[in-house]
Amino acid sequence: KEKILQRRSLELRNKQEDWQGSPDGQRMLEFRRSLPAFKEKDAFLKVISDNQVIVVSGETGCGKTTQLPQYILESEIEAGRGAGCNIICTQPRRISAMSVSERVAAERGEKLGESVGYKVRLEGMKGRDTRLLFCTTGVLLRRLLVDRTLNGVTHVVVDEIHERGMNEDFLLIVLKELLPRRPDLRLILMSATLNAELFSSYFDGAPTMHIPGFTYPVRARFLEDILEVTGYRLNPYNQIDDYGQEKTWKMQKQALAFRKRKSQIASAVEDALEVADFNGYSLRTRESLSCWCPDSLGFNLIEHVLSHIVKNERPGAVLVFMTGWDDINSLKDKLQTHPLLGDPSRVLLLACHGSMASTEQRLIFENPEGGVRKIVLATNMAETSITINDVVFVVDCGKAKETSYDALNNTPCLLPSWISKAAARQRRGRAGRVQPGECYHLYPRCVYDAFADYQLPELLRTPLQSLCLQIKSLQLGSISEFLARALQPPEPLSVQNAVEYLKIIGALDDNENLTVLGRKLSMLPVEPKLGKMLILGAIFNCLDPIMTVVAGLSVRDPFVMPADKKDLAESAKAQFSARDYSDHLALVRAYEGWKEAEAQQAGYEYCWRNFLSSQTLRAIDSLRKQFFYLLKDIGLVDHNSETYSRLSPEEHLVRAVICAGLFPGVSSVVNKDKSIALKTMEDGQVLLYGNSVNGSVPKIPYPWLVFNEKVKVNAVFLRDSTGISDSVLLLFGGNVSRGGLDGHLKMLGGYLEFFMKPELANTYLRLKGELEELIQK
Ligand code: ADP
Ligand code: MG
Repeated sequence: KEKILQRRSLELRNKQEDWQGSPDGQRMLEFRRSLPAFKEKDAFLKVISDNQVIVVSGETGCGKTTQLPQYILESEIEAGRGAGCNIICTQPRRISAMSVSERVAAERGEKLGESVGYKVRLEGMKGRDTRLLFCTTGVLLRRLLVDRTLNGVTHVVVDEIHERGMNEDFLLIVLKELLPRRPDLRLILMSATLNAELFSSYFDGAPTMHIPGFTYPVRARFLEDILEVTGYRLNPYNQIDDYGQEKTWKMQKQALAFRKRKSQIASAVEDALEVADFNGYSLRTRESLSCWCPDSLGFNLIEHVLSHIVKNERPGAVLVFMTGWDDINSLKDKLQTHPLLGDPSRVLLLACHGSMASTEQRLIFENPEGGVRKIVLATNMAETSITINDVVFVVDCGKAKETSYDALNNTPCLLPSWISKAAARQRRGRAGRVQPGECYHLYPRCVYDAFADYQLPELLRTPLQSLCLQIKSLQLGSISEFLARALQPPEPLSVQNAVEYLKIIGALDDNENLTVLGRKLSMLPVEPKLGKMLILGAIFNCLDPIMTVVAGLSVRDPFVMPADKKDLAESAKAQFSARDYSDHLALVRAYEGWKEAEAQQAGYEYCWRNFLSSQTLRAIDSLRKQFFYLLKDIGLVDHNSETYSRLSPEEHLVRAVICAGLFPGVSSVVNKDKSIALKTMEDGQVLLYGNSVNGSVPKIPYPWLVFNEKVKVNAVFLRDSTGISDSVLLLFGGNVSRGGLDGHLKMLGGYLEFFMKPELANTYLRLKGELEELIQK
């Protein structure tokens, strides 16, 4: 074995020397030596040979990601230890793992999968001789599941730690505990901004190193300057139409809320608020933060700024920061019809997102020929993970999709929210890579001034259910003790909520041990309640509709409700729910109708007629495919089956599975003369959202509604509900395995008593008797 290792190490060394001696290799080396990281190469290698942990910070683009892991690899190969080293470098996003590994392989004159490879979920390029692996943080966490000491790994590089993603914070706790048991393992933490001290002190004063970078100055323009420079006239009320009807509705609601809040603010407070006045529209900093939404400026402003740049500004690529993939798509569609921006001889319009093909990816880094101007539409991923060198202009919408968590309702939300000052600076900096740049912030300066300095770590703003499951599946001991060791520990209440929830749904037993269900749930990349639906859907052979429900709940509602055609939209939706009393089943029927229409090339027409978003339906469609492969992967679907069971299953079975997933989200239904009274155990009286199919019926012929979300506004509103019967609640609500059948009865008993339906307990006892008999048999 020793001999084989030696021979391979020798081969690696010869190959590396050959490449570095070749003309192409020389040219590449020359480029690499021009990067700021190169000056620190020797110092860096010395620090990691003397210390177990090091924190490196440096400007984006200085060469951390592509160079530092490569320096380690090269020096190990030069020292004749090439075959023995095993470097893992984690990235928060798939696209950066893929694009960075491709770049590093190219810098080494190799194809991907030789000494450099990548691995992301469901995809990878990695060979026997791969010594440097770029992977997502999630992939490394899953590896820890089966290989708790990272056997054979010599270096772990955790990149972009400043982003404070939940996975990264989690990984750091695990690694911190692993280090004493693996004294030979080296840990390199890399961060773009300068909060290295925080990480250094977390790792007991690990040495830090800063790579000084150089960027050109970038001029910042805020909305007021932009309006002056481009001559654009802003009228917030007209702008509302820019984004299409779906947004119109939201905006009108926001505007209403805004006016209401405004009148509530005492004049003393009002005096204290800064007022920015332009084009007759005044913005008060603090209150406007929540309602001034750059989306509302619509795409017209972005289009206007872009055509201003293309017409009047010097050459240079443009990078536009948007909130998400759907916005990027719609903007791209719009720009493509523009006479100037849609002209391919003048403008190369590219979208940059997490799952694009690599040919498309490469275009982003290339310089277009013949005076064509490159415009890249991207999300906040282009802030730090990838570097596009020729960017001279940045357009920043000021928002990013951020998950937030409502500890009281146990609800996660993924909504566009304001970025931090640090992120805005970072976006601006992207314009100064090759020459002085310009940044167009599409919001007033007073809004910028009210931004938070840094974004809150994800661990403190997301529900912890999935994370707690992972802690258990990694056998990391007590959840609360483990999380208390985080860089910034979450609130004990959030942890308690999560653990209790996992017990209720049956993922953990009373002693906080993972159940069989819990183990399967930890392998599915969706919220536990949705994972539970998928698993039960597979077991009860109604996977097809359930995958649609789960995909719909994890993407967003495909039904659009424009304010001016609300009645029409509601009745269109109600058609999908004839006698079903279920928003979830309406979604399934709408999706299935769309699939049929698509097959006849009538998908667009169908969506238009039925007030559906074809974009959302497409997203649901692709997510369904991913679920199917995953379920095959974890053995819940037969490996040979090519299609999901297409049979149209019994509707009440689907209802039961939905109930199993959504429990304890249950409200009781009491039909009164002219209204329907709904009640939940925690909130008492609750109401339904206007767009629910159950909101406009005179009577609901089910004693219970299960719902997937409740939101507290002035009252508690339930979103998306499905009617279920007593027996479904009894058999599928909660977790029969918890404390045995009796324990289950006791818990449900609380519900039944609360809702004053003691007769149900008798039904339950009868069912229980029958079940026990069955089990005996
Ligand atoms: P950091 O991680 O410090 O932000 P990187 O290591 O990602 O920096 O990039 C260093 C430099 O390598 C960039 O400034 C850019 O010049 C070059 N580079 C990175 N990726 C590519 C690529 N795919 N194509 C061409 N050049 C690239
Ligand atoms: Mg980097």
